[in-house]
Amino acid sequence: MKTPLFYVVGNLKMNMLSHEEAEQYITVLKREIKGKGYQYTKGILCPPFLYMREFSRVPTGLECGAQNVFWEKSGAYTGEVSPVMLKNAGASSVIIGHSERRTLLGETNEIVKQKVTATLKHLLVPIVCIGETHEERLNQETDRVLDFQVRSIFSDISKLQAEKVILAYEPRWAIGTDLLPTSQELLQVRVLIRKTLTELFDGDLAEKIVVIYGGSVKSSYLSSVSWEAGMDGVLVGRESLFPYEIVKMMNLFENHVEQELLNQ
Ligand code: PEP
Repeated sequence: MKTPLFYVVGNLKMNMLSHEEAEQYITVLKREIKGKGYQYTKGILCPPFLYMREFSRVPTGLECGAQNVFWEKSGAYTGEVSPVMLKNAGASSVIIGHSERRTLLGETNEIVKQKVTATLKHLLVPIVCIGETHEERLNQETDRVLDFQVRSIFSDISKLQAEKVILAYEPRWAIGTDLLPTSQELLQVRVLIRKTLTELFDGDLAEKIVVIYGGSVKSSYLSSVSWEAGMDGVLVGRESLFPYEIVKMMNLFENHVEQELLNQ
């Protein structure tokens, strides 16, 4: 059996109003995580750009990610931040195509694709959000939408690069709403993504690509999201504002794998 690695990605969004607040978050996080070791779980915290310095010093077992990126390396792009800047600031990964950016800031599949390409080129891990709207779900268009988004992300990239991508299935209707897909629905999405990736590459690669779930996640949902539906982890919004919740989720994943291995 391949040793599992579960991901807990915290999207801190536009929260924490000062460097002091960011420092306070890290202090609590350090206290919560003290003495813990993680072999099967990776935490990635994505703060606002301004606090990347603080968050690049997160404790072992955790990494720092960003919430957005531009596709050029440097130049006259007012207000933008490049993949190289992120890497130099200590980020290992970056969230791309979050639904809030797609809805509020007009981010299209084409823009998402450009960002993914640039991110991979500069050796950062893209955590790419996909997902249907409420209306698309009602019209039973989820499969079509996801198939299209996955093809658009993975078109024209090598197998070697494709392996690095983390897909975050975040149905838009589940974000910030306390509504969640059932584990059966998540399982179907998992199968659909695998099918599209198999068509684009092959079955082996489709198995390797990490797919996590995001949308109203709480620690009590990990069993239905991951043990039952086979997601490789979670992307957490609101709950990530509480460092102890992030640590709790990491511990649940870690303990679960340890138990599974013992039972073998
Ligand atoms: C998100 O915005 O990526 C998210 C998952 O938010 P929440 O957990 O608050 O639904």
